[in-house]
Amino acid sequence: MFYPLTISDFLDRAVTVYPDRIAVVDEPAQPAQSWGEITYAELGRRARAQAATLDELGVPVGGRVAIVSQNSARMLCSFFGVSGWGRVLVPVNFRLAVAEIQYIVEHSGAQVVLVDPDLAHLKDELGVGEGGVDHVFVLGQDDDKIWGSTADPRPWEADAVEKENATATINYTSGTTARPKGVQLTHRNNWLNATVFGWQASVDDRDVYLHTLPMFHANGWGHPFAATAMGVKHVVIRQIDGAEILRRIDEHAVTYLCAAPAVVAAALDAAKDWQGEIPGRDRVRIIVAGAPPPTRTIERVREELGWEFIQIYGLTETAPLLTMSRMRAEWDHLDPTEQARLLGRAGAPAVGVRVMVDDTGEVLAQSNHNLASYWENPEATAEAQAGDWFHTGDGGTFEDGYVTIADRKKDVIITGGENVSSIEVEDALMSHAAVREVAVIGIPDEKWGELVTALVVLDPEADAPSAGDLITHCRQHLAGYKCPKRVEFRDELVRTATGKLQKFKLRQEFWEGQDRQIN
Ligand code: AMP
Repeated sequence: MFYPLTISDFLDRAVTVYPDRIAVVDEPAQPAQSWGEITYAELGRRARAQAATLDELGVPVGGRVAIVSQNSARMLCSFFGVSGWGRVLVPVNFRLAVAEIQYIVEHSGAQVVLVDPDLAHLKDELGVGEGGVDHVFVLGQDDDKIWGSTADPRPWEADAVEKENATATINYTSGTTARPKGVQLTHRNNWLNATVFGWQASVDDRDVYLHTLPMFHANGWGHPFAATAMGVKHVVIRQIDGAEILRRIDEHAVTYLCAAPAVVAAALDAAKDWQGEIPGRDRVRIIVAGAPPPTRTIERVREELGWEFIQIYGLTETAPLLTMSRMRAEWDHLDPTEQARLLGRAGAPAVGVRVMVDDTGEVLAQSNHNLASYWENPEATAEAQAGDWFHTGDGGTFEDGYVTIADRKKDVIITGGENVSSIEVEDALMSHAAVREVAVIGIPDEKWGELVTALVVLDPEADAPSAGDLITHCRQHLAGYKCPKRVEFRDELVRTATGKLQKFKLRQEFWEGQDRQIN
């Protein structure tokens, strides 16, 4: 008998084994009425109600439901209420500009869009019913239209193999193209990422998980699934603030969290002013990815916070876990700086992952949870998976069983843990009448990791805009975090004989003296 791996396995188990446990502590301070604390039995009931309501709305198996929201219990529930009955959840970055959200909704073909109350304006902007989406519901205000049904959801009728390989989620990610691409992950992909991640990060039923990572980002790296499977308590946090992170760790006895380096920095800063013992000392493990953290940061997390430091490396396309770096017995006798240096490597391949570095220095991966394909983009899919290896676009080494990421082959900037496509920003700048040429690069920055920086050649005939004017112009087209934080005017930009921009040369002056080319 073949029984399919589907993401409802996780919530089904929690409802069976831990019905009376608190499943979620929702964010208390949010524009919708907080769900407060609900048990796994109740989370299961709400997921069923959501699925039954989608039946009544006529959203078929395979139909897409987008959600544009900060972290919330409602969003957590939607991972199960939507995907658990064969539909596809499209979690969208809530920081994106309206035009970007419109593109994703349209490209994914979402029939229903759920939005945070702060984004209620999308109701008008997404053009309901006029060839656009069928419904836009505001979380909190329209709960009866999302969770109102009291019927039993229609069972998901499909062949077992079909179910396991059905698309569960589509996450849009900015890459090397002007438009974001939809990463299509199947139930199998999400299942294996969640279980392997949960296993290697020792997630068990004594854990309490703090959602510092946005759930839209690679489905919160799979922790909505992994933590649920083990009956872990989910503590939702809506806005990232170092002191608030420490306070919630204290209040809810949190044991693990995931974070981009900027969040680690916020926690370290807040710890300086914290009165008394740091919350979670000798209890919390923090899982970090997005950029290679400096050795000193790792040492400080271990010394000043007393938390276990774990690094992972991966991409939205790989669900995301590819490698993990975690203390091992062989290193116990080493001094803390050497241990931190070893932990600074991206990590060893996770179970079910194979890694190699090709002769151009690019890291390639094969894994049981690499994306099925990019949604409606066969060319990009074929390119990313050429030769049956997934091309990460990252440059690095693979030695002694460990991957180190040192460089980026793709034209992507990672700022505050989010990807920004240089081309997208260049397109936005080029749409300004006074801009003749532009190159957008990332430069090292203490707070953001990399700072989106535009080098601009102006049209001498036009009225010269200021740096601020150009940033304001970008804001009309792009999410705030993608807009340049620094603009420098140049007389010309270095190009090859064939007219191609030589970004590595443009980057050189900013990266001099750094031991790697990413931050
Ligand atoms: P995303 O798909 O938005 O999660 O971004 C994935 C990209 O983040 C990767 O291709 C890397 O460039 C970068 N990244 C993720 N984890 C690490 C890490 N541990 N070290 C270096 N870069 C990382």
